[in-house]
Amino acid sequence: MTRDEIRELAAFQADESKGACALSFYLQPDPPQDRSHRREAIVAKDVVKQALKSAAAIGKNGSLHADLDRVLDLATNLRGNARGRAVFACSAQNFWKEFELPPLLGTTHIYLQSRFQLKPLAALLGAQPALCVAMVDRQRARFFDLRLDDLRERGGLVHFLPRTAASYGYHGYDAGHAERHVAEEALQHFKAVAERLRTDYEKGTWERLIVGCHDVNWPEFEPQLHPYVKQRLIGRFSADVASVSNDEIRDHANAMLNRWITERARTKVSEAIDLAKSNGRGVTGLRRVLQALETGEVQSILLGENYSARAVECPNCGHIDARIVTSCAACGKPTRELADVCDAIIPIAIRRDIELFYLKDNAELDRAGNITALLRFRSDQTTGQIAAAS
Ligand SMILES: [Zn+2]
Repeated sequence: MTRDEIRELAAFQADESKGACALSFYLQPDPPQDRSHRREAIVAKDVVKQALKSAAAIGKNGSLHADLDRVLDLATNLRGNARGRAVFACSAQNFWKEFELPPLLGTTHIYLQSRFQLKPLAALLGAQPALCVAMVDRQRARFFDLRLDDLRERGGLVHFLPRTAASYGYHGYDAGHAERHVAEEALQHFKAVAERLRTDYEKGTWERLIVGCHDVNWPEFEPQLHPYVKQRLIGRFSADVASVSNDEIRDHANAMLNRWITERARTKVSEAIDLAKSNGRGVTGLRRVLQALETGEVQSILLGENYSARAVECPNCGHIDARIVTSCAACGKPTRELADVCDAIIPIAIRRDIELFYLKDNAELDRAGNITALLRFRSDQTTGQIAAAS
């Protein structure tokens, strides 16, 4: 799943005046130990049948029925793989997209709304960086991209030792000389790997890095990393490049990445709340977060895992208001009520590349109303500074 695909989903709006409806379906597979029971298919079919019933009850037109039939078909023909799935559909507007996802979606659920329901996706994507995993030893390097549980090998480097190095021992050189030569070759290799990481980073191939290598190689390799590559390093794990499997690489890297994301979110919550108190680059509470979103100040939004709040949105100008008012405070047109303000916030965040973090059991965030944001700047303070300077 690419960023462009997610943006496309976030930008989609069903034309309700024509009875169109945006269908979002998330399938959570059974845990591996229960896979023989096919419970997931039964649950999925129930969920779709319920949706069919309620769609009929509210008199939704035929196109939704067609979408639901197609999802039912998909649920019936699940061939028990352990991946999660998401479907986004609106046949009235000729839209159907299916994705395989990590099995971390919570529950199997179907949503029929005017926009696609992206919360399970946003919670999953969190602030997932474009991650590079570099597996390195003294002669080889293999580069992988890890995106949402999906590990792909992108390329590699092999350093061929010159013949003379390999045959040193047989030409009467002393062992120490041969060893120094091999060490020199390894150093050249590590330098080439570090250089490749730097150029790939500059090209935007990756944003964060995890390295897998033998413990003995790390003190040789690490000093070769460019300072700003080192700044992007999440961590290192111990592995034998020649024998490690792709599954092992993925599991090690995922565990490190998830720890890093959780820790980073926790740090950002504290930072946002502290900055909000000192009237700096942070805001807490829905009303202030919405204001900051409208002035384009927001860099990251941090939400309690189950955060939800009623709000209104203006279909005319897009203004979102935490107060339940019938006419828009910005343009005066009638508003429409949102059962959950996140349905409007998440697509905005995705479209504007604002980082979204969902946090479990964070007492500090709970006390701050379960919603807080870090800002790029404060527009009121920028104006103040200009006024002071002039
Ligand atoms: Zn308006």
